[in-house]
Amino acid sequence: MFKWKKAADNKLKRKQSMTMLVGDENESTEEEEIDLADSDEGSNRNRFREFRQEDLLNPSFSVGQVFGTVELVRKAIIEYNLRDRVEFKMPRNDRKRVKAHCAEGCSWNFYASMDSRTNCFLVKTYNGHHNCQKKWMIKTCTSKWLAEKYLETFRADNKMTLPNFARIVQKEWNLTPSRTKLWRARKFALQTIYGDELKQYSQLWDYGQELRRSNPGSNFYLNLTEGAFSSCYLSLDAYKRGFLSGCRPIIFLDGCHLKTKFGGQLLTAVGMDPNDCIFLIAFAVVEVESLLSWKWFLHSLKDDLSIDNTFPWTIMIDNQKGLIPAVAQVFPEAEHKFCEAFVRKFPSPFQRLQPQKPVVDMC
Ligand SMILES: [Zn+2]
Repeated sequence: MFKWKKAADNKLKRKQSMTMLVGDENESTEEEEIDLADSDEGSNRNRFREFRQEDLLNPSFSVGQVFGTVELVRKAIIEYNLRDRVEFKMPRNDRKRVKAHCAEGCSWNFYASMDSRTNCFLVKTYNGHHNCQKKWMIKTCTSKWLAEKYLETFRADNKMTLPNFARIVQKEWNLTPSRTKLWRARKFALQTIYGDELKQYSQLWDYGQELRRSNPGSNFYLNLTEGAFSSCYLSLDAYKRGFLSGCRPIIFLDGCHLKTKFGGQLLTAVGMDPNDCIFLIAFAVVEVESLLSWKWFLHSLKDDLSIDNTFPWTIMIDNQKGLIPAVAQVFPEAEHKFCEAFVRKFPSPFQRLQPQKPVVDMC
């Protein structure tokens, strides 16, 4: 190991260390190449340009640059590699040092190692000049890298075809990955977006058991059709107690589509707390919204809240499929109100209802 010296013989020292690196690659990776003052250790990191996560969009390197982690160094090299369409080799790649060079005959090389003074990776040698040829297919352009890169694209369009995906990759990166690689990338991306939903559904029994164990008083019903998921209902004990003790006797009902792989609909019952904020009471996931599914949900809700006399209750609804007759059957004596926004949007069904039941603005 070289001894510390201050800036005076810095140039000579760097030359020595570079010779050493070329001559013997198993040499120590200590902090001999870049000269730092001993005194202000805390500010050492600030004296060099730090490579940040956002620099990955267009990475560039220089001697003295610092990286927070070795993972960031690797990511930056791969990104640079792909942007320049050149194939790098990394003969040294461990937790303490990363050494990369370009194709045979090309002068590009990079070496960074752990620096104990700054406690981060420091670029110690770098030559950014290429005299090699650009490529169309690069090994580091893996399906996992493509999946990570185009995750948001697939989130926006999960039905994107492989030819379109190939066109986007070629336009943005000038790379032509194989069809198999693109297919795998799309599969990984969709798996990340939707998770492994089948596995998640199979864990619902355990989830229900854990819920009952950790939240006594909560209800979780799971219905199966021929061994497959059909519907589920969930209401936590805290929701019910909070609603019954602190909220007005108004229940708002609504349903919406679930945009997941298996679809379905989410039915919700919410109340309004003393601050006029939404207070969740219960929700259910059903295959389709219908009179039967709404009736099942409302019966479960009624039992959960121990409602025998429906007279003091007010139910706020819109024109969801089957909801109006379901409410009329399960909460026959309750006051039924319609959301004002809904009435303004679809006034025609209410023109005939108005003589019997006045519409109020309770949104
Ligand atoms: Zn090169």
